[in-house]
Amino acid sequence: MTAIRPLVMKFGGTSVATVDRIKNAAAIVKQQKAKYRHVVVVVSAPGDTTDELIEKAHQITRTPDVREMDMLLATGEQVSIALLAMALKEMGHDAVSLTGPQAGIRADAVHTKARITSINPANIVKHLRAGRIVIVAGFQGINPNDDITTLGRGGSDLTAVALAAVLKSPRCEIYTDVEGVYTTDPRLVPEARKLDTISYDEMLEMAGSGAQVMQGRSVEVAKKYGVVLDIKSSLVRSPGTVICR
Ligand code: ADP
Ligand code: ASP
Ligand code: MG
Repeated sequence: MTAIRPLVMKFGGTSVATVDRIKNAAAIVKQQKAKYRHVVVVVSAPGDTTDELIEKAHQITRTPDVREMDMLLATGEQVSIALLAMALKEMGHDAVSLTGPQAGIRADAVHTKARITSINPANIVKHLRAGRIVIVAGFQGINPNDDITTLGRGGSDLTAVALAAVLKSPRCEIYTDVEGVYTTDPRLVPEARKLDTISYDEMLEMAGSGAQVMQGRSVEVAKKYGVVLDIKSSLVRSPGTVICR
């Protein structure tokens, strides 16, 4: 059997914050599916869902149990995968949503900031071979105790990059609320300049000094496996920033 090398796309929280944004994300996926044939989509929780869930937990207890915290936070991403799958089906595409565990993502036992230990992509590949668009919940995996764990804030970036590495994707597209990586945060500094390309090390440096546009750990994994990243806006069609060697 020939290897399947799907495009991996990731949509951050603002890109799936409302029903209209979910439909917009589905339209972008449809377009890329026509181009790449096989597509895996990773999504974050809608909008501020994760922050709101953390806030709720802290209204109940000052010291939430970390296992229960992960159980709670993992629900956010499940809202997005199901709604995006429905949107794609409505557009006439076969799509299937998978949680992190269903996608074969195994993690260590450190709750709320687990590391991915391995990925068994068999289930994803089975659905891709059947012609389906596979939609995976970001930010989550299953640990050796069969408990759900989350991968730390911004962890959907890591899910996307790790899947792109395992599936040997030609590239990993990160759709967000800015048009790419800028010299500095464009929301704070209007004169910030968009960069066409940057190296992994430059992006690591920026992530290290607080640029949340890409989670630092995900950039480390991209560098290690040579995953080409393309950071772009889900709302404005314009060339983004390519991160490569
Ligand atoms: P997502 O929800 O799509 O993962 P994030 O909020 O995690 O998006 O990251 C995007 C945000 O990162 C932007 O809205 C921007 O304010 C911020 N940011 C900080 N530094 C930079 C930078 N150098 N270039 C682009 N965006 C940056
Ligand atoms: N929903 C998680 C967070 O807000 C993961 C992510 O968005 O990447 O941190
Ligand atoms: Mg993010």
